[in-house]
Amino acid sequence: MKKRSKEEILYKTVKEDNILPITSICKLNCIFCSHKNNPPQVETYSFGHLDKALIKNMIEFLNPEKPVFIGESASKIIEGEPFVYPEIYQILEYLRQRWPEIEIKITTSASFLELERLEYLKNLEPLELNISLNGPAPEERVFLMNDSRPNNVFKIIPELKRMEFNFSASIVSMHHLKGFDYLKRSFDFLEKYQPRTLRVFMAGFSNYADSEIISATDDYQQLNQFINSIKNEYSYPILVEPQLLNDFKAEINDIIKDSPAKVDLQPGDIIKKINQNTVESRVDAFYQIKTASNPEIIFKRDQKTKKIILKKKKNEDSGLIMSYDLSRKEKKSLEAYAAESSKNQNGITVILASEAGYNLIFSLIKKYLIDNKNLKLLKVKNCFFGASIIAAGLLTNSDLISSLNLIEEKIKKIILPEIIYDYYGNDLLGNHYSQLEEKFRAEVVLI
Ligand code: SF4
Repeated sequence: MKKRSKEEILYKTVKEDNILPITSICKLNCIFCSHKNNPPQVETYSFGHLDKALIKNMIEFLNPEKPVFIGESASKIIEGEPFVYPEIYQILEYLRQRWPEIEIKITTSASFLELERLEYLKNLEPLELNISLNGPAPEERVFLMNDSRPNNVFKIIPELKRMEFNFSASIVSMHHLKGFDYLKRSFDFLEKYQPRTLRVFMAGFSNYADSEIISATDDYQQLNQFINSIKNEYSYPILVEPQLLNDFKAEINDIIKDSPAKVDLQPGDIIKKINQNTVESRVDAFYQIKTASNPEIIFKRDQKTKKIILKKKKNEDSGLIMSYDLSRKEKKSLEAYAAESSKNQNGITVILASEAGYNLIFSLIKKYLIDNKNLKLLKVKNCFFGASIIAAGLLTNSDLISSLNLIEEKIKKIILPEIIYDYYGNDLLGNHYSQLEEKFRAEVVLI
């Protein structure tokens, strides 16, 4: 298998995802860190601190129309903590000068962010900090993150509020080890300082993690129930990730305070039409609204149909929070392949879905499965990573092959979630999807 050059993978990340890699060093050691639990065969790229000249060059390739993400990882690069990079402030200043309008989004543990630098960051707006809080007090930060500066984040967050700094927060939930009380105390702490949103992630553990920290299958449902029972006590939106969806209804999960959508819409509303265009999915509704100026929105609330004009500029954030399902194009394309399968002459079409995505995909194609022997939908288990991993992004060719081997008919077409593969068509172990084409002599379609 070919290992890509450092530059190739870095520039691809910048161009495809508008992510600016800076460092792979984080100086923490979280018990839920997925990098620690990766099997040795997994293809990842770790670069230490990147050279400043290289980062400046990568900045040229950003799309200034979209937000730039720093401290996020969307590819196989191990992304570290931006504020341990020795020249982070020079990089941010250069970025702001080069792209004066670009929205900068930085994900940080806040352990190494200096209090006296916040004023400087404030001057670089539009800039949003996403703080990985994870616990309500310094002792929890030590236990959960091995944080060597555990008090720092609890000084930073009050200051962000005082300065009216735009920030969100996130927590990787370890309720299966620590109970729900520490989550509630984290929510109570944040209530004083009002983040834009709080995302609570269900921690995922592979077979390679210490067996004592692996969560059980019903831990996700318990987390969801807990958050649904408590979230109305807080004035900021609390969201559980991932959301396991069963349909494409464009239902609003929550709305950011003081946003355009807060005026007339509310959680639970289901968006039906935008400027007279039908809505295909949550993602479709979200982007139709985002890219419209003062869109007319028809929605359902308590079985009644209502209509509003949402006062907002083109490309301004509406403030709506909706789960991620499929884009209009992805949904239409999947449906078209399902419909077309009934005309197959020699061989069947197989659609493969992760455990997390199965119910959503089933809801879309169930009508095409009736009386159609040419179409099958398979739920694929993450056998390679195992344990509590159920996401499509962590499936490998070996998982897919195990499921496809159960099919007795000749396979004509295999339809897979595109997220399994990197920019080059390789899974996390570096195996290309053409392996499936060769093994099953079938056409592979990525959606
Ligand atoms: S900060 Fe992120 S990369 Fe570093 S140990 Fe924690 S989870 Fe892993």
